[in-house]
Amino acid sequence: MGRIFFYLVLLAVSFYVVKLIRTRLDEPLKKLKKDSNVKADSADNMVKCLHCGLHIPEKEAIKQGDKVFCSLEHARREL
Ligand SMILES: [Zn+2]
Repeated sequence: MGRIFFYLVLLAVSFYVVKLIRTRLDEPLKKLKKDSNVKADSADNMVKCLHCGLHIPEKEAIKQGDKVFCSLEHARREL
């Protein structure tokens, strides 16, 4: 009887350990997925260069008033 109890405890502990390892392994994956979602969101804000028509992320764009350019060179050429 004591032996059966020992195996039940061993089984419960091994299940717990497996679960613990799985959550540890999942954490970086979840973080990675979250990061890629953030990247996808910022990629949505694409703007078009007024000079060459190149699409670039809004935060990398050169803004002159309401005009948007891909580089300083193109901003100078249009102004
Ligand atoms: Zn350009």
